[in-house]
This record gives sequence, structure tokens and C-alpha cells, in this order.
Amino acid sequence: MLQIPHFINGQRTAGAAQRHAAVFNPALGRSQAQVVLAEAQDVEAAVAAAHAAFPAWAALSPLKRSRILFRFKSMLEERQRELAAVISSEHGKVESDAQGEVQRGLEVVEFACGIPQLLKGEYTEQVATGVDAWTMRQPLGVVAGITPFNFPAMVPMWMFPVALACGNTFILKPSERDPSASLLIAEWLKEAGLPDGVFNVLQGDKLAVDGLLTHPDVAAVSFVGSTPIARYIYETGAAHGKRVQALGGAKNHMVVLPDADLDMTIEALMGAAYGSAGERCMAISVAVAVGEVADTLVARLAERTRQLRINIGTDPKAEMGPLVTRQHLDKVSGYIAQGVAEGAALVVDGRGLVVPGCEEGFFIGGTLFDHVTPAMTIYQEEIFGPVLAVVRVDSLDATVRLINQHAYGNGTAIFTRDGGAAREFAHRIQVGMVGINVPIPVPMAFHSFGGWKASLFGDHHMHGPEGVRFYTRMKAITSRWPAGRAHVAEFAMPTLG
Ligand code: NAD
Repeated sequence: MLQIPHFINGQRTAGAAQRHAAVFNPALGRSQAQVVLAEAQDVEAAVAAAHAAFPAWAALSPLKRSRILFRFKSMLEERQRELAAVISSEHGKVESDAQGEVQRGLEVVEFACGIPQLLKGEYTEQVATGVDAWTMRQPLGVVAGITPFNFPAMVPMWMFPVALACGNTFILKPSERDPSASLLIAEWLKEAGLPDGVFNVLQGDKLAVDGLLTHPDVAAVSFVGSTPIARYIYETGAAHGKRVQALGGAKNHMVVLPDADLDMTIEALMGAAYGSAGERCMAISVAVAVGEVADTLVARLAERTRQLRINIGTDPKAEMGPLVTRQHLDKVSGYIAQGVAEGAALVVDGRGLVVPGCEEGFFIGGTLFDHVTPAMTIYQEEIFGPVLAVVRVDSLDATVRLINQHAYGNGTAIFTRDGGAAREFAHRIQVGMVGINVPIPVPMAFHSFGGWKASLFGDHHMHGPEGVRFYTRMKAITSRWPAGRAHVAEFAMPTLG
């Protein structure tokens, strides 16, 4: 069986290779490869390679670093479909969706190509007579990125293009469910001219993560994944003196006001709830129907949900693929059973779906609940599947209170024709990313991505200006070049002027 190795110091390597995990084709329900799981000596080898490569990489001019990223960007453009096919076969998402993911990652590479401009500091001439002051941003050293299964190319690309451009060296610990995209990326970076050791891939599980989190030569950790693990990463990394940004799970509400354009709203909700089988941290999992719009909204959603085209990701007509693993399928099915047990109205039940030709695949159909209440488990917890819950609310005020009381605060959206209502919502809502008639408001690469509350631990959002701040530290320099002045010791706190 195909073995998926690490990529350390510019080479594929199986390392110690004592443990493996099966990598599935979720549409066929079959194991198609085995990924090696790092042992402690593999963590050491990856950190040692990145540590050794750091001084020369950091010393390279930002312009030269950016030229390598420019070449990598061209390769990604040319090979987008190749990468998307690999993602689709291990993750299950349809290929057009995988291409979209590569595109969104590529945009961060484009942003990082502008690093000479982004790293410019501030300068003040003559802060005192004959004294100048300036600030500069310098790289941190070896940084690690630990990423989830749902975006095996895009989420790593939220991190490493900016980290590398800033002069850091990088160790990517991808999800063990879909690890192959990371190897293609590593090889293409090398082909683009990246020196060995600057970008490494460490395959593995908790052992690899803990090794990185506690290693004295790792300066910072970026994490994206579920909230319990994000909290653990933040606390453990910080306790070991590292800078940490840890993005967690989500429960995103889309608010539908009675004056919304319903045709646009239904299509937006369908894509946002069921695209990528709901396995997106920005997926809409709750539709908040305000006032009299509820009955029509549910009826039209139900009709459209029953028509979803669900198939293997290589089918160009498919709108949705399978879930990532059988365990996840069981978990999502369990949530649906729990919703019924807790009294929600199950309008469309996706359980038991069999796709011809993919009988063993991890498929589930689009599922729609109505009359969901805030006390229910299916409202409170992240399901991460194609399950949409409709909550009925009678005013915008009550909607804002509802969303602000939720533990998560990743994304939210409002659909309305009323500019004043939309403005008030955006102002009062305690959520990191807000869409106004935009269902999945993922910020572009030159802005920054991040949620609030249990959706993010740490101070910095990812990519954009926040990414540059996270991957650098500031130094302030005050300089005097004395010309023939008497030197007199000063014992009072120095003041300039
Ligand atoms: P996960 O938390 O299970 O895994 C994420 C990473 O952590 C993987 O690399 C995994 O190997 C590692 N990991 C798992 N268990 C660990 C442990 N006990 N100790 C140390 N490391 C561990 O998440 P997932 O299932 O791969 O991804 C789905 C989750 O990611 C969802 O909750 C989703 O909302 C979240 N997510 C969030 C964002 C965001 O931007 N906020 C983006 C994408 C995904």
C-alpha cells in the first residue's frame, strides 16, 4: 500500500516509521494509503532542519524571498487541478470546491509576495537633537503550523506563505486524514527555489503536536482545528513560552429578515450550509428566521435540500461529496438522532443515503431541522456536517441577543434590504467575521481571518496584516552619531529634546 512520508530537510523520508494511520477515499469508503506518524526522533529531525536553515533564510533580502514565492505562485496556478484532485480523493469534497480552496490559498501567496512593502518599519528623523528613531520587524525563528482535515491546502496557506516571507522557517503538521497535499506543496516550494529545511512536513498525531508545542527551538505555533484542541494548544504552547494563535470551531448563524430577497437568500443558504458537506468552519449551520419569513423559508429550503446532487467529487455535476470518515458520519448521524429526541422538527432527513457506485462511501444527505431552540444540543454544538437548523425569532433585537449568547463567534451573516438594520447588526454582534448579504464572509488574503470567543485563542488573526504581526517581532532603535559633543554621564531617566 502507498506510504505517505514526511518531508524533512528537502527530502521525503519515512523517518522512524513505527506507527501508521490509514488514509481513506471517503467516497469509496476504502483505505487508499498509509501515512507515517512521527516519533520523537522525527520531531527532533524536523526542528533541527528548520533551526539550521533559519539564519541563512532570515538573512536573505525580503525581495529574494518574495521571488521564490512568486515562482511558487505560478506553479500553483498551473497545477491547481492536480492539487485539487489529490485533495478531493482524500477529503471527499467535490473537485470544483477543492479548486476554490487552492485559489483562496494562492491569494495568500500573492499577498506574501508583497513582503518587501509589508516589512517596512517606521522612521522618525530628529526625535531629539541629532537623534533618529525607527522600528523594524524581524522573524521569530522556527514556527510550526498544525492544520485540520477540512482545508488541507488552504489552511496551511493561511500560514506558511506569510511566515516564510517574513524570514521564518516552517514545520507543517497536517491532518493525518488528508496528508498528501502537504507533500505536493513541499516539493513545489523546493522546485521554486526554497532552500532545504526552510519548509518541512511532519506527518503525525498528538505525539508530533506535543513534541512541537514543547520544543525549546520552536518559537511560535499556529493552529486551526476544533475548539477543545485549540484551547489545549494555546495553553500548552503559551506555558512553554511560545507565541500561539489557535483558531477553533464554530456555529455560524445566518439571519434572514422579512424583507430579504428570498431567491438570493435560499441559494446563499444552500451553498453555505451544504457546500463541502458542511465541513467548513465558516459553514452556516443555523438559519435564524425573523418574523413571518419562517414558513416560506423552511418550505423552499426543504424543496431545494431534497434536490441536492450528492456524488463522488470527480462528478462535475455534484454539489456535495461524502463526509471525511465513517466515525464522522456516525457522529453526524448521532446528532440528527439527538435533535429528534430533543424535540426539533426533522423536515429533511439525510441519513441512510446510498450513492450508486459508491455504496461503501461515507455519504449523508442534506438534513434540515425546523423549530430548533437554544437549549438543544444540535443548536449548541458544532456538528460539522450537512445539517441546517432553523431557529424562529421575532425581532432583530432577540436575534442579536441569541447570537451573542452563543459560545462560538467565528462568522455570521445577515440577509436584508434594510441598510440600517444591517449596520446595527454588524455593530452589535460579537462575532469576528460578518457578512451582509454575503453568506460566507471569509476575508480576502490582504485582510485577516479570525473569530471571537471560543473560535480563537490568542491575539492575532491569520494572514493579512495580522499574519505579518504574528510572524515577526518589533524592534525599536534610537540612534545618535555624536559629532564632537562632550560626554557626560546622565543618572536621571533619559529624556530627549
Ligand atoms: P482536530 O482538532 O481534530 O484536528 C486538528 C489538528 O490537531 C490535526 O492536525 C490533528 O492531528 C491535531 N490533533 C487532533 N487531536 C489532537 C490532540 N489530542 N492533541 C494534539 N493535537 C491533536 O480538527 P479536525 O477534525 O481536523 O478539523 C475540524 C475542526 O477544525 C472543526 O472544529 C472546524 O470548525 C475547525 N476549523 C476551524 C477553522 C477556523 O478558522 N476557525 C478553520 C477550519 C477548521
